[in-house]
Amino acid sequence: MRIGGLFAGETARVRWTLAAALMASVGSIATAQGIPALKGASTLHEAPTTLPADTSTIEPAINHVIPRYLSTPIPAADADLLRRAFGIEDPSRLYVSDSTDGATLKYDTRRKTCAGCLVNSYHVGYISVREPTESWEEVEKRVQVAKAKIFTGGPHPASESLSALDPDVRPLAEAMLRDAKEAGFKFHVTATYRSPLRQAFLMSKGRGRTHTLTSNHSYGRALDIVIDNGNRGNKKTKRDWIAFRKWVTEYKTPTGESFRILGRPDAAWDWPHVEMPSSALGFHSVDEAVARAKECLAPGAAVPCDFQPHLPLEAIAPLVPQASARTGK
Ligand SMILES: [Zn+2]
Repeated sequence: MRIGGLFAGETARVRWTLAAALMASVGSIATAQGIPALKGASTLHEAPTTLPADTSTIEPAINHVIPRYLSTPIPAADADLLRRAFGIEDPSRLYVSDSTDGATLKYDTRRKTCAGCLVNSYHVGYISVREPTESWEEVEKRVQVAKAKIFTGGPHPASESLSALDPDVRPLAEAMLRDAKEAGFKFHVTATYRSPLRQAFLMSKGRGRTHTLTSNHSYGRALDIVIDNGNRGNKKTKRDWIAFRKWVTEYKTPTGESFRILGRPDAAWDWPHVEMPSSALGFHSVDEAVARAKECLAPGAAVPCDFQPHLPLEAIAPLVPQASARTGK
C-alpha cells in the first residue's frame, strides 16, 4: 500500500504512524462493516435527490471522519516555506487525504473537531484563484464576501465536452464511457473541465455548499457523469447509479489505469464525480511540499510552486478567456 512506502521514508520531524494514516483514510463506518478500503475519501453525505444544474459538479471536501492532522511541529524555516509557496498559515492543519495511491496533501482552514462538522479543505499545490501572497484563510474570506459573478463574467467557464479533458485522460475517459455504454448504462456527462474561476464562482455562490477552491476538474482529470435522469429519488435511477459507481471502481482502462469515485458506490455526497488521479499531481507528504517550496522559491526557479495543468487550450480557451493567463501556458 502506497502510504506505507511514503511514510517509511519520512524524517523524524514529520512522523506519522502507519496506523494513524490508515485511520485518517478509512471511514469508521466502512471499517466497521468490513468494507474494503475506499478508493476515494469517505464522503458519506447524502446529496439532495435532485441536483440543481452544476451543483452536482462541486467537488466535496466533507468527510465523515476527523483528519489525522500533522501532530509533530515542523521547523520554523519549513513553516515559512510552506506559507510563502502554498499559503499554509498553520501547518498543524495539514493531512494526507487517505491511504490510496491517489491520496494527496490537504489543508483545512479550520480544524475539524467532529466527524459531521463542515470545514473547507484545499489540495496543497493545486491551482486556484489564490494569489501567490495570499493564505488559504485570506482567499477564502475574499471569495466568500465577493459577488459570485466577478469570477466568471458572462458565460460560465465550464465544459461538458471530453475534448476539454487533459489529452492524456481523454482517451481513457472515452474508453471508459464506451465500455459503460456497452455494459448497458445510460448516462450523460454534465461537466469535464472547470476553471479555478468557476470553482471560485461556485464557492462564492454556494454560501457554504461548496467547500473547496481546488479541484481535479481544473486539471481536466475529472468528469461528472449522471445516470439515467439523475433523480436518485427514483428507485431505479438510484439502483442503476450504484451499479455504475461499483462498475467504475472495478473498471480498468485498456492500459490498466483505474478511475476513482468519491465515497462508496452507495453512499457519497458527490455522486457524479469520477476522476483519474495522477501521481504527478499533488503532494504525498509534508516533506514533498517543503522540498518543492525550496525549489520554486529559489531565485531564478525553473519550477512553479503550484502544479500546472496539462490542458488542450484550444478546447478550453473559448470557454475561459482567462485560462491562458491562469494556467501560465
Ligand atoms: Zn466532479
